[in-house]
Amino acid sequence: MPLNKPKVVVLGAGYGGLMTVTRLVRKIGVNEAEITLVNKHNYHYETTWMHEASAGTLHHDRCRYPIKDVINQSRVRFVKDTVTKINKEENKVVLETGELSYDYLVVALGAIPETFGISGLREHAFPIANINTSRQLREHIEYQFATYNTEAEKRPERLTIVVGGAGFTGIEFLGELANRIPELCREYDIDRQKVNLICVEAAPSVLPGFDPELVDYAVNYLEGKGVEFKIGTAVKECTPDGIIVGKDDKTEEIKAGTVVWAAGVRGNPVIEESGFENMRGRVKVKPDLRVEGHDNIFVIGDCSLVINEENDRPFPPTAQISMQQGETCAKNIAALIHGKETEAFRFDNKGSVASLGEHDAIGVAFGKKMTGTKASMMKKIIDNRSLFLIGGPGLVLKKGKFKFF
Ligand code: FAD
Ligand code: NAD
Repeated sequence: MPLNKPKVVVLGAGYGGLMTVTRLVRKIGVNEAEITLVNKHNYHYETTWMHEASAGTLHHDRCRYPIKDVINQSRVRFVKDTVTKINKEENKVVLETGELSYDYLVVALGAIPETFGISGLREHAFPIANINTSRQLREHIEYQFATYNTEAEKRPERLTIVVGGAGFTGIEFLGELANRIPELCREYDIDRQKVNLICVEAAPSVLPGFDPELVDYAVNYLEGKGVEFKIGTAVKECTPDGIIVGKDDKTEEIKAGTVVWAAGVRGNPVIEESGFENMRGRVKVKPDLRVEGHDNIFVIGDCSLVINEENDRPFPPTAQISMQQGETCAKNIAALIHGKETEAFRFDNKGSVASLGEHDAIGVAFGKKMTGTKASMMKKIIDNRSLFLIGGPGLVLKKGKFKFF
C-alpha cells in the first residue's frame, strides 16, 4: 500500500463529475487514491430537466437526489462547499470555508447563463439554470397570475411572458409553459386569451442549425399552443418593465411581467477567476481532456471545449458529452495512477431530442428523425438512461419518467 496515496479532487457533482467518481472507484483499488468530491449543494440536480421545474410542470424535488445516494461513501469523501478559485501553481483549490490540495484535479463545475453584457438581464430576467433559479421562476409566474385579478386596473403585461432565445432551452421551456398556462388560467380565473407567450430569437430561424423539417414541426406545434415567435430579432436591453428588442435598425419595447433568458451559456466563472486560458469560460482541452501546461488538471463538461474535427467547431455543451468525458477522464486518471498512457476522448454523438411539453418532442436519435409520441418516448428514455448510468436501476425506479403516453 503506498504511504502517500495520490489525492484526486473532483469539483462539481453534475453529469461530468458524478460519472468521473462513479467510474473511477471501479477502475482503481481501494488504497490507490484518496478521492474527494466537492459540490456546493448536497444534492445533484438534473440540469436537463430544469425547464420542467421552471415552468412548474415537474416539482423540483423530482429533479434532484442526494449525492450520497450515488457515491460509494467508503471510497469517496464528499465535501459540501463552494469552489471560489483554483490555485494551479500550488495544486490547491480554494473553497468558501477552506482549502484542498490535490495531485489530480477534475474541474466539472458546469456553466452559467451567458448574458453577452446585455444591460439589465442580470437584474430583471430569469435564467433556467438550477434548482434555485427554477423555483424562483415558477413562483414568479404564479405570482403574476395571482396578482392580476387583485388589481383594480389590470395590467396586461403581468400576463406577458417573454423568452429570449429559441435554442433548445428556450424551446423546451416554451413547450412546458404552453401546457402549464391553461392550468394556471383555470386556477387563477383568467381568460387564456389574455396571456401572451412571446419568444424572441436573434438568428433567422428557431433552433439555428437544427434540421429544418423538425424546426418547422416545433414552430407549428408551439404556435398552435399560442406562442408568438419574433425571429431575426435581438434582445438589446432588459428593464424592470420588459425588454427592448431590435430588428432591421428598428427598436421596439415589449412590456412583460416575466422575462426568461435562455440564450446560451458560458463556462463556470471559477475558470476565468483561476486564470485558465479560455473562450467564454471554456478551456480548450488536450485530446485526453487535460489542460495544456497542467498535466494533472482535467477539465470536462460545460467548462471544457472540445473541437469537432468534422466541422472544426466546438461541440455544443451537453450532458451527453459531459457524461462521456467523465468516463474517459476516470480511465485517464486510473491510467496515470497505474503509470500507463492516457487515451484520447472520442465523442460518440447519439443525437439530440428536444421535448415540446410532456407528450411531444422533435429529434434525431441514432441517425433517425422523429417527432410526436415517438420522440417524446425517446426523450424519456434518454432522461432515464442518464439516471441509470449514474445511479443504476434503483435511481431509475426512484426518479425515472415512466408516463410514456
Ligand atoms: P452540471 O451538470 O451543470 O453540474 C455542475 C455542478 O457543479 C452542479 O452540481 C453545481 O451545483 C456545481 N457547482 C457549480 N458551481 C460550483 C462551485 N463554485 N462550487 C461547487 N460546486 C459548484 N444536454 C443534453 O445532452 N441533453 C438535454 O436534453 C439537455 N437539456 C437541457 C435542458 C436545460 C433546461 C438546460 C439548461 C441544459 C440542458 N442540457 C442538455 C445541457 C446540459 O444540462 C449541460 O451540458 C450539462 O448539465 C453539463 O454538465 P456538467 O457536468 O458540466 O455540469
Ligand atoms: P444555445 O446557444 O443553444 O441557444 C441560444 C439561442 O439564443 C440561439 O438560438 C441564439 O441565436 C439566441 N440568442 C443569443 N443572443 C440573443 C439575443 N440577444 N436575443 C435573442 N436571441 C439570442 O443555448 P441554450 O438553448 O441555452 O442551450 C445551451 C446548451 O445546452 C446547448 O449546447 C444546447 O445544445 C444544450 N441543450 C440541449 C438540450 C437537448 O438536447 N434537449 C436542451 C437544452 C439545452
